[in-house]
Amino acid sequence: MKKRVAVIGLDGMAWHILNKLFKWNIMPNLKKITQKSLKGTLESTIPPESGPAWTSLATGVNPGKHGVFGFTIPTKDYNGIKILSSRDVKYLRIHEMVAVQNLKSICVNQILTYPIKKFPGSYVITDWLSPEIRYSPEIKEYAENYHGPTLTKPSPLLKKNWDAEYADVSSRVDTINALLQEIDWDLFWAVYSEPDHLFHRYYDLVMKKDRKVMRLFNKIDETFKIVEDIADLLIVLSDHGFRKFNYGVYVNTLFEKMGLVKKASQQTIKDIACQRQVDNPRIQFRLPESLYTYLSKVPSSIEFVLLKIYKQLLKVDIRAKMTTHINPKLSKAFAHGFGVYIREKELTDYIVSMLKRSQFIGGVWKKEEIYHGKQLEAMPDLVIVPNFNGGYALRGDAIAPKPAMRREFSAHHPEGIIIIYRENVRPSWMQGIRVYDIVPTILDFLGLDIPEDIDGTVIDLPKD
Ligand SMILES: [Zn+2]
Repeated sequence: MKKRVAVIGLDGMAWHILNKLFKWNIMPNLKKITQKSLKGTLESTIPPESGPAWTSLATGVNPGKHGVFGFTIPTKDYNGIKILSSRDVKYLRIHEMVAVQNLKSICVNQILTYPIKKFPGSYVITDWLSPEIRYSPEIKEYAENYHGPTLTKPSPLLKKNWDAEYADVSSRVDTINALLQEIDWDLFWAVYSEPDHLFHRYYDLVMKKDRKVMRLFNKIDETFKIVEDIADLLIVLSDHGFRKFNYGVYVNTLFEKMGLVKKASQQTIKDIACQRQVDNPRIQFRLPESLYTYLSKVPSSIEFVLLKIYKQLLKVDIRAKMTTHINPKLSKAFAHGFGVYIREKELTDYIVSMLKRSQFIGGVWKKEEIYHGKQLEAMPDLVIVPNFNGGYALRGDAIAPKPAMRREFSAHHPEGIIIIYRENVRPSWMQGIRVYDIVPTILDFLGLDIPEDIDGTVIDLPKD
């Protein structure tokens, strides 16, 4: 008998946020499903970033095998930054694995699906990191109404155009709902990026139950009413969680003080388009350099008060200027996101020991300590995570006056969510589910072959 698996991703969703949405009855359909499901915390990849995490969720293997560490990596000549594409994903993803074994799949907004790799029986709508939305011609009548933000078309969220945002979100929800109901599929994989994008920019509005934001989540909830009746196995998950942090960590600032990083005389790292999607869109005001330097020297409590006064005077949201970039070519080592690239390899142990001593850093690994596989070469030399529990999150690659600056902001957290529903499943709380476990669980449920080198294990689905 035909069995159907649906995976609905809620990028960046965390339990403390979802439980609020449930309490406010903003997502009643998902709430109802959750009450009768297996659920748990989903441990993200190291680092908890959408690129590696979604790719690991969709492949069942670690970044050393699929090759994706972030959306961007430094180019080989260290002259710039390259945005990854589907060509950089070196392992089959579940929508492709299913198609290879002669079943049908639909995949919507999975990161790094542009340009579309063609597999018979697999229909794709590309993701928000595409230069433009592309789709498999077979689903044209549905996909042509799908309006996503892309690298060339910024989300209306950036301009706080909430009505336009609602129209766009509705176009995506309606497309997904129509595909769910009207196309024949065995695996349906769709990712909603909206939670992540909203939490990055408007975390406080979400937590204040702002009506404009709630309307978006309420619209997305329509999908759960439909998918519950169609799928035999429904998995709702996020790639990482979200939280408020108190300090922004600038690893290259630490490196500059260690004499490893060389400042760029001018901006050498080009502003990349995808930054526009995740940066805070509020009006930014550049503080005069002298004032900024002064602020960096005063205790953070005073800095905070001064910035507040400044903010009131100017009536704009002040983000202190952080435009001093680094020159990777002249640096002995530098950080890009959660990765550290070491150009003078003999310094590796020294850098590791210095990072381990920093109170801002929560973990440091040489790549071979946490990753394994043929794509190890594509990984940075070191992988770092900030001291999440101490309230620290990474803030950027620029050089700031201090390695850790007091700033309240929201950022990714390693604990995502997972909800698994099938008929008669015994509701309980699961422990220790990892991003790698999703693919083997789906393949097992569909009765398909599981690749031998998969890193995850099949999740046990106890029945009542
Ligand atoms: Zn994400």
